[in-house]
This record gives sequence, C-alpha cells and structure tokens, in this order.
Amino acid sequence: MNPEKVRVRFAPSPTGPLHLGGVRTALYNYLFARKHGGDFILRIEDTDRQRFVNGAEQYIIESLNWCGIHFDEDVVKGGPYSPYRQSDRSSLYKHHIGLLLNSGHAYYAFDSAAELEEKRKQGHTSGMDQFQYNFKTRMLMKNSLSLPEQEVRNRIARGEAYVVRIRIPEEEVVVFNDIIRGEITVHTGTLDDKVLFKSDGLPTYHLANVVDDYLMKISHVIRGEEWLPSAPMHLLLYRFFGWEENMPKFAHLPLILKPEGNGKLSKRDGDRLGFPVFPLAWTDPVTGDISHGYREDGYLPEAFINILALLGWNPGTEKELFSMEELIQSFSIERVGKHGSKFDPEKAKWFNHQYLIHQPDNELLRIMKNYLTQRDISALDDYVLRVVHLTKERANLTGDLWSNSWFFFQAPLSFDEKAKNKIWQPTTGEIVREFATEIKLSVDFNKDVLHVIATNFTERKQIKLGQLLTPLRLLIVGSNQGPGIMDVAEILGKQEFLSRIETGLSKMGEC
Ligand code: GLU
Repeated sequence: MNPEKVRVRFAPSPTGPLHLGGVRTALYNYLFARKHGGDFILRIEDTDRQRFVNGAEQYIIESLNWCGIHFDEDVVKGGPYSPYRQSDRSSLYKHHIGLLLNSGHAYYAFDSAAELEEKRKQGHTSGMDQFQYNFKTRMLMKNSLSLPEQEVRNRIARGEAYVVRIRIPEEEVVVFNDIIRGEITVHTGTLDDKVLFKSDGLPTYHLANVVDDYLMKISHVIRGEEWLPSAPMHLLLYRFFGWEENMPKFAHLPLILKPEGNGKLSKRDGDRLGFPVFPLAWTDPVTGDISHGYREDGYLPEAFINILALLGWNPGTEKELFSMEELIQSFSIERVGKHGSKFDPEKAKWFNHQYLIHQPDNELLRIMKNYLTQRDISALDDYVLRVVHLTKERANLTGDLWSNSWFFFQAPLSFDEKAKNKIWQPTTGEIVREFATEIKLSVDFNKDVLHVIATNFTERKQIKLGQLLTPLRLLIVGSNQGPGIMDVAEILGKQEFLSRIETGLSKMGEC
C-alpha cells in the first residue's frame, strides 16, 4: 500500500441523529479525500452499547446519502478492511488489549461503580481536586498494579467484573502537530488512566478508534474539537503499540456555535429559534419525539452542504456559492479556522433561496408536484411550470413554492379579514363588477391586455388603479399578498378569473 495515499474516515457513534456538526465533519473528510484522490471510509463506532440507539446507523447513512456524501468503503458495500462496524470487530480489540496488558501499558481494575462514585464524592466534599484515576491514585485502588498477583488471578478466574485501564506515564511530554491548531504539548501527568476495555468485553472508543485507524491505514484523522483532549492519549497508544511511524496526521475542527456565538450549537438552540440542527427529521425511538430536519423543512441538499462548508472553512475569496465539485477543487484543510463559527439561520435560508431560484424549472416542477400529489391536486405540467416560474423568486424553502402559489390550484375559501376591512369600500363591489363585464367582452386575455383595460377603466372612473387591483387581488387570491395580479390572472385564464370574481363578490355579500 502506498504510504502517501490519503485515507480518511468518518466514524460516528450511533447514539442518536447526526448533528449538523457531524455532517460537516463528514463533508470535510469527503472533500479532503476527493481533492487528494484518496479513499473515504465510513466506520460505525458502536461499542458503547449503553448509548446505542436503534435506527441511528440507518439515519446516519441516509443523511449522508441525501447530502451527496458518498463512501468508498462502508458497512453496506464493505471493502478491503471489512468489517466496518466495530461491534463486528470485537476479537481484534481483545487481541490488542492483550498486547497492552502484556507490555505493561495497561492493567486490570476491579473497582466497582459504587466505589468509584464514593471516591468522586469524597473528592467533592473534602474540597480536593476532582478525583482522577491516575498515577497519583492508582495504587490506592483495586487493580492489578496494587493487588498481589495471585489475587488478581483469582479474581479473574472467579469471573469478577473488571475493566482494563491505560497506564499513563507519570512524567512525559507528548508533543504533536495539529494541522489546524499547530503544535500541541501536553504533560502526561494531567491525563488520567482511561478505561480502554469494559466489563462487557467490548473496547471503549479510545482503544477501538486507534486500533481501527491503524488497521484501516488511515492517513488523516479529521474530527471535531471535542476529541482534542483525547488526542494525547491516542498518541500514547500509537507509541505503546509501536505504531508511531504509521500514525495519522490530526486535524481538530472548530465548533459550530450558537447564533449568538456563546457556546456550541445545540438542539435546544434550534428549538428555541425555530431551525433544525439535524439533516433529516428524526423520531426518537423511545419517547416518540420528532425533531425537525433540513430535508423535511424544505432545504435542498446542495444548499445545506454549501452552508456547512462555509462554517469553519474560508475559501479566501468573496465567493459564497459552491457546488460539490467546486468545493472539492477549492477545499483545503489549512484554510479551516481555529475558532468556532456562528450558525446564522437567516443566512442558511438565503443559501437555500439562491439554490432554489437557480434550479431548472423542471426540477421545481418535480418538487411542486409532490406538494400537489400530497393534496390530491392534479394539474397539467405546463400550467405548474408557469406557476413555479412566476413564484420561485419569493421562495426560501421548498414549502414556500406551495404556500406562495396555492391559489393557482384552488380558489380561496375565505378572505383575509384585516385586508378586507382595509380594502373594501361601499363602492368596491360595483367597481369590480363593471370591470369584470368589460373583461368578459374582451377577446384577448393576457396581462398586457388586462393592464390596458384596467388603466382605461380606472381613468374613466377617475379612481386610482389600486382601488381596482387591490380588491381584485383579494377576490382572486384571498389576501393582499402574492405576485402581480395581472400575472396571476393570465395564468389562471379568463374563465377562472371571472368565476372567482363572481364567487368572491357573492361571498362578500355583493350581489
Ligand atoms: N465515534 C467518535 C464520534 O462519534 C469518533 C471520533 C473520531 O473521529 O475519532 O465522534
């Protein structure tokens, strides 16, 4: 295998729906792989069975698929380093924890959860530093370093529950280079003896992650900043296994921040401010709670990806709209900033608007037909095309395509009260009726003809154009919103136009 070959991975834990920060991590890995002609791998890190959530793995795969982020090796299509789901690789981790135990870099620990909790409480009440299982405390605990060898053997033979912890050296300095953050120096004395292997016979994230990155020949680890504190321990593991030469390069991505900028963007922020933080809608399998998703809320995947790409990466130019191909060309990990980027929900809508208005009308037709089918409305393609062409400019979300144009497909059942009170005068009904009579007599029916007739009519009546058009709009559309009423009329056609006026007038009690 070519040691220079770029191989990156996205390694989610199926503990719930994928946060948009997770999608961004996957995206940056994907862009990096594609840019460098490398491989992109999906590895499911599901060894924490307590946090495992049913359906999360499928959700992650479907989300990335929707985003257009595709893998070269994954749990579905497999690959040269199969299996790609950690729960299917347990014998590998058992073997590797054995190596660390033999070399003295790891040890058995028998302390029960209750005993550890007690220690934590003691630390808390005595005002001492928070309890850490480390070089200072490990000899006071029940483990294979503090207990006689025979007792350790007996406990294991009796089937007593144990975990395996890493033995962090007391006084060493770990130095490594993070592509985004530069040189990072950590004294091992500040690290604790984390659990590598649990009593359920499965590894923790740390062991499985390092073993797999090595075995899968990962060249670069690009992941969220929350993993930065774990990196020094991971480096020690590479050293303990004797894999330092093949250690991947690290890049820890900055956080995506709340719109106000204070802290990490959370689902609560989305709920509070009315925007989704997940790519797809998600139904919690336990509580049944439904969370919004960008797809269902009417975002196009291209827009969603574009939004995420710019949350942390700076192209170095003013350009804001990037297709996936352009992102692949322009992306560089060196241009990812150290500092978090604020998520701006309004800007997200702006991106989607840009993508919507630049969609070919045929694509908008496809989207619009979904809304029509859901409502059992049938309409000719040509008609729908004219509607979307006229209304797309006002759409931010795909749902706006429908909400801005529903009146092309059904007559209003009622009229906006506020608008009606403002617009409707005692003479209005008569004005509209007379105008309708003139339209009836006209041979041609299009917006230009309508405009000429309306202008002549209002001049003759010595009223303002608005005194005719605003009430007309109310009758045709049901409110004083929407595109130019002459455009609406032209698409509706003469018959429907006149029939709405007639029905509208009778609803207004004007006949
Ligand atoms: N399983 C970890 C997560 O869910 C992966 C972190 C990493 O990429 O190393 O974030």
